[in-house]
Amino acid sequence: MTTSTTFRPVIAIHGGAGTITRASITPAQQQAYRDALRDVLQGAQQKLAAGAPAEEVAVEAVRLLEECPLFNAGRGAVFTADATHEMDACVMRGRDLACGSLAGVSTVRNPVRAALALMEAGGPVFMIGEAAERFAQAQGCEMVARDWFSTEQRLTQLRTVQAAALASGREQVALDHTAQSQTQAAPLDERKKMGTVGAVVLDVHGQLAAATSTGGLTNKKPGRVGDSPVVGAGTYAKHGVVAVSCTGVGEAFIRGSAAHTVAARIELLGESVDQATAEVIHRVLPPLGGDGGLIAVGADGEVSLCFNSEGMYRGQIGIDGEALVAIYANEALAPA
Ligand code: ASP
Repeated sequence: MTTSTTFRPVIAIHGGAGTITRASITPAQQQAYRDALRDVLQGAQQKLAAGAPAEEVAVEAVRLLEECPLFNAGRGAVFTADATHEMDACVMRGRDLACGSLAGVSTVRNPVRAALALMEAGGPVFMIGEAAERFAQAQGCEMVARDWFSTEQRLTQLRTVQAAALASGREQVALDHTAQSQTQAAPLDERKKMGTVGAVVLDVHGQLAAATSTGGLTNKKPGRVGDSPVVGAGTYAKHGVVAVSCTGVGEAFIRGSAAHTVAARIELLGESVDQATAEVIHRVLPPLGGDGGLIAVGADGEVSLCFNSEGMYRGQIGIDGEALVAIYANEALAPA
């Protein structure tokens, strides 16, 4: 496929999906999320408008989300069962299918920047743990102490999920925003749990890119890696087709090759971006336990923000600079 002759450059972002209802967060918290989404969109839009390549714009949006402790990536990342942080990130460029992924890093301030450095280095496309951290440091990425990522709120979430696991006698993990609602509400429903941040971009040159970053699931087993850094599962971009970033129960998104399946349906079946995302989110993933959502942008700038949970923090912005955001299901995008 070739670049569409008429296209609308755009950035779409997500800050995770899950049990996000009007009852589970206060009006002040809702506004804080809306403001944060707007600020991230406006920050990244400056790069878009200045003509930066799609991967740089996507990485900037995700970096800004990593810096915001409201979201489960970078500072504010959730805790593993050992009360540590293990973060994963990925960036993919549609033009040449270049990509870089890191998993299980705990000292890189902005994992998505290290993923970009890996992509640009042109060697391995996926690195893990301490070796990935040494790579990031050698590339000049900012390194921080392990506890730099910790927040009180995430620790409370961990303790809540662990108490629920103890009470039920079953192993439990939780999607970030679901764990948050659990700290205020009903017992943990294992089918309803999420977090994570991502961005998809169609730049002014007609090029696509996607980036995703996450702390994973609250109370995850140390060493567990979700879909976010797995190309084709949590992140994917292909020139002339689509860029996709996912959030949800990573195991299902990996088993369903979620992001790549969206691209394949568009490319091979001729579906629209909306049709392909709906098929994956509402038909392919649910039988696999795939609660969550994804954001996608097609070669012409068609955006789909699709999820099967109660809510997904989401937004988009075009060249006009008007940031539009939404949180709940059945809520139209609107200025923050
Ligand atoms: N997909 C992420 C994972 O499974 C979690 C999330 O989206 O919040 O690691």
